[in-house]
Amino acid sequence: MVKNFFVAIVTIILLAITSCGNNSILTEVPSVNYSLTFPNAEDHYINVELKIGNIQDTVIDLRMPVWATGYYIILDSPKHLTDFSATDANGNPLKWTKPLKNSWLVKNGTANEIVVKYRIFANNKSVGEANVDAERAFLATNEVFLFINDKINTPSTIKITPWHGWSKISTGLKRVADETNTFYAKDFDVLFDSPIYIGNQMSINFRHEDKDFEICVARPQGLDTARFVADFKKIVTAAKDIIGDIPYNNYTLIMMEPGGGGLEHTNSQAIFTDSDLSFPNPGAYNNFMNFVAHEYFHLYNVKTIRPIELGPFNYNGECYTESLWVSEGLTCFYENVLMKMAGLSDARTILNYVTDNLKAYEPYQGKKRMSLAQSSTDIWLNFFNRDANGQDVRISYYTKGPVIGLLLDIAIRQASDNRYSCDDVMRALYNRYYKDAGRGFTPEEFWSICEEYSGSDLCEIKSYVYTTCDVDYEKYFNYAGLTMNRETYRIDTLAETSPEQKAIRKAIIGE
Ligand SMILES: [Zn+2]
Repeated sequence: MVKNFFVAIVTIILLAITSCGNNSILTEVPSVNYSLTFPNAEDHYINVELKIGNIQDTVIDLRMPVWATGYYIILDSPKHLTDFSATDANGNPLKWTKPLKNSWLVKNGTANEIVVKYRIFANNKSVGEANVDAERAFLATNEVFLFINDKINTPSTIKITPWHGWSKISTGLKRVADETNTFYAKDFDVLFDSPIYIGNQMSINFRHEDKDFEICVARPQGLDTARFVADFKKIVTAAKDIIGDIPYNNYTLIMMEPGGGGLEHTNSQAIFTDSDLSFPNPGAYNNFMNFVAHEYFHLYNVKTIRPIELGPFNYNGECYTESLWVSEGLTCFYENVLMKMAGLSDARTILNYVTDNLKAYEPYQGKKRMSLAQSSTDIWLNFFNRDANGQDVRISYYTKGPVIGLLLDIAIRQASDNRYSCDDVMRALYNRYYKDAGRGFTPEEFWSICEEYSGSDLCEIKSYVYTTCDVDYEKYFNYAGLTMNRETYRIDTLAETSPEQKAIRKAIIGE
């Protein structure tokens, strides 16, 4: 009896604490539930119903992101939103205004639950934009879902009713248990980092490295799926061997119809594919695998190993950083490292890749007018680099970035007797800043780790990033037993090399 009484008292106390705890959570976090339908996919419209509950404020500032993370350009997304309405839970209309191009300010007053409805016209085709047609829907989530401004940590559920005839939904988002076609995002960052593909795609599911994978292929005709899956697994393993960890439980590779471009996400990638997945042209298959490897490695380099400015994201405008040459340039460098480790690329292919990049900027005046770091900041002006004078006034981190990345790798190897390389830098950035500190790195921290492994200052390499000075390629290539023709930028192996040169060369090109 005494014992029971004691248990009863403890239970009451615990209930009170739990209740207080729940109340404090409930008072802070709104509930957000989206429902999507497609009235007529041929008209390219998505109907969205958004229910927000547990509202503590009298005004809700709903926003649409003006860019897709990884796609560094301001998009016209808000103009595709039409037929906005807001009511309370009983259907009484609420007043709203639109003070900014991407802001819908709903005056809910005392209503703690609201229902918002809108339509999205989804008819632009890129990896950063939503696109719906009779065949399928590709939801670049930044163009479909409104978020609550300043409440980025709010979780949400997404219920999708596919258009008639569509049978599958592929996404990196978690499925809600026991709910058909309902997904969960733990916060808005996860939602905007998780594209959704709905249609009749082929879906290949497997486990590898103790993780769940889905490869979804919109038009699989001609694809040697067994070969592709085997090669993709090799890339996953190669990346894990470099970093020492895989930061997701499930990964979704979305291979869309023919088109251009791909976009990285933390546990997925969405890419347009070649017109013919049988890859009849020599080298086309390997180019495609390079592309897949690039987007895959981004889940480390930019999503987890990230410049400090790239998170928490500002979805209302540009996110400037001078370090995209690391995020993009070194990812271009690493796509070749992964291909080499996976046994999918040979020395000549790797050297030709460097030559192609050199040819893209060395002969032009742009190299004297823009540093690599500036190309990162100015990407918001030059994402598609379409101006006729482009190569004469700017450079791209996609071309100079991987070349300077290679020189950095060689410099660290040369200075450390080939004991360390960029792999050690990437692994240290991942462990120290993503895993331990839960944040991105500053440029100073990046260089500090590079210098820690090289054991020397890297002033010259830094000058290739922050200034427009001439690059002494020959010096660094020589460290690796390589030589470059200044006319053609062709790179060859030196006839005679020391064991040290040979060791570095073997590490970077495999022979
Ligand atoms: Zn990239």
